Amino acid sequence: RRRKIVAGNWKMNKTVPEALALVRELRGTVAAVGDVVEVVVAPTFLALQPLHVALEGAPLQLAAQNCHWESSGAFTGEVSAPMLAELGCAYVIVGHSERRQLFGETDESVNKKARAVLAAGMKPILCVGETLAEREANQTLDVVERQVRGGLAGFEAKDVATFVLAYEPVWAIGTGRNATSAQAQEVHAAIRGLLGRLYDGETAGRVRIQYGGSVKPDNAAELLGQPDIDGALVGGASLKAGDFAAIIKAA
Ligand code: 13P
Repeated sequence: RRRKIVAGNWKMNKTVPEALALVRELRGTVAAVGDVVEVVVAPTFLALQPLHVALEGAPLQLAAQNCHWESSGAFTGEVSAPMLAELGCAYVIVGHSERRQLFGETDESVNKKARAVLAAGMKPILCVGETLAEREANQTLDVVERQVRGGLAGFEAKDVATFVLAYEPVWAIGTGRNATSAQAQEVHAAIRGLLGRLYDGETAGRVRIQYGGSVKPDNAAELLGQPDIDGALVGGASLKAGDFAAIIKAA
């Protein structure tokens, strides 16, 4: 059985003191869910080191929201995967729709970043998802398949098994309009079917697929109760300790 994974993507929110305060409030919940739910937070780059120190081995995993694919060099403003690994990051989010839409991320750059993340000993959280126009044109499964194939291009089954995928329909992000559990389950099952065709059934059965897009305390249990939904990637609701704790408990 796949272990559930609930991650908070804080995006460009929380100063370092605010980040420390939020994690302090979450510690009790994280300790209580123990081995049942893996809990991850993705603060800004700035807060990674202070949080790593503050966590002192508490079972809360750190993720970065992005990285560059080269390990060092003349890339002004960028941060590399080995630098993140050294700060205690377990995961790096790659291909978030905001990065695809606002910062020119492509399936090719996502693939290169995922390779760098694995090479540095971390795991990618690879995000995919269709826009509203694509859904209305009945292209959802085609778009998601293209993004999954592109992001995973050239990886072997043993690498893919370590990935977390996140299905985040763009129209559900920050809108308060979540995908229904049936809509999300349909896409998650299609992704798992694709993994089975591209690799094998065992790999498809091991990859965890999170849902993201307006996950809140009142819809988390139903979404996370679907057979192919293995967790949540939470934006807005992860910024409040009470809401994020309720989502973790619902998993
Ligand atoms: P919201 O939960 O704010 O809709 O954001 C989802 C998201 O983009 C997580 O990566």
